[in-house]
Amino acid sequence: MRLVKNWIDNLICPECGSRLQVQDGKFEDNGIWGVPGVSCVKCGSKYPVKSGILEMLPAGDYSKYEYWDNVYKDPENVIKLYSKRFSYNDRFLLNYYVMPTIAKKLGWFSVESVELGCGWGTNSLALKRFGLTKKIWLVDISPAALKGAMKVHSKFGSEVYPVRADIHKLPFCDNAFDVALSGGLYEHFVGKEQEELIKENCRICLKVLCQIPENNMTYRLYRAIYTFIKGKWPFGFETPVSRGKLSELFKAAGCDIKGWEYNNLATAVIIRMADSRPIFRKFALRPFFFRLFEHDAVIAADCRASAGKKGVEGVNYRTG
Ligand SMILES: [Zn+2]
Repeated sequence: MRLVKNWIDNLICPECGSRLQVQDGKFEDNGIWGVPGVSCVKCGSKYPVKSGILEMLPAGDYSKYEYWDNVYKDPENVIKLYSKRFSYNDRFLLNYYVMPTIAKKLGWFSVESVELGCGWGTNSLALKRFGLTKKIWLVDISPAALKGAMKVHSKFGSEVYPVRADIHKLPFCDNAFDVALSGGLYEHFVGKEQEELIKENCRICLKVLCQIPENNMTYRLYRAIYTFIKGKWPFGFETPVSRGKLSELFKAAGCDIKGWEYNNLATAVIIRMADSRPIFRKFALRPFFFRLFEHDAVIAADCRASAGKKGVEGVNYRTG
């Protein structure tokens, strides 16, 4: 039997790792949280709710991330696009949205999921579209992204738990979530920092779905064409990695690799065409040679034995 868990049970203080308690009082815009903030029972750090977002950043300088506020300004186009796309048939969509594809294949249904570096939160939204997650948490460093993601999700009747947090020090207890997703996150980091981030990711969940651009010809070509058309590459500093490297990173974090999926340029072109010409929505195929156009890999990892876990578990409700 699965006990019903309160959101506070998932949280820990990012400063000292202790449990948190809710703060009393009324507030205008406390959103889904229903409280003005939380505070640490040990060190007393306070984390307020602002505009419906729980602000869980440890003390520090985060100005270098302000860049992302400009990337995530207006969610209207995303809302328009997804309103249309989510009406296409499942088989067609699953060729493009490969996180739900692999979650279905592995029988990974999540009661609670978290998307790290969520941006518009579309990876969670895609899982939700296929009934693969119930309760969605969104994490980003950018308040603009979180506000946008809240708008996007509310448009699809999906209530989310938005948290502003640093992925280096996630404010969640070990195994807080069934699955943690990320799309296009860890290529923005390299070396030891990247290794530590993946360990931290694996600490807070039982399973991981992680999408990352691959260091191959197709990625380089895609990036060159995109940059040529748009004038610049909008996703900042990034170093794509190989499947081998990604696998190494998760194994070093103590995970078992359960499977792979991929995104490819041909399917991306087909869905673009389908957005404007309904006839293309019948093309629910992804022949094997589309692997030639692979530019992104999605890894599915089981992190129950993850090296990052300290044994500070959440409420023990995961029996199944
Ligand atoms: Zn504390």
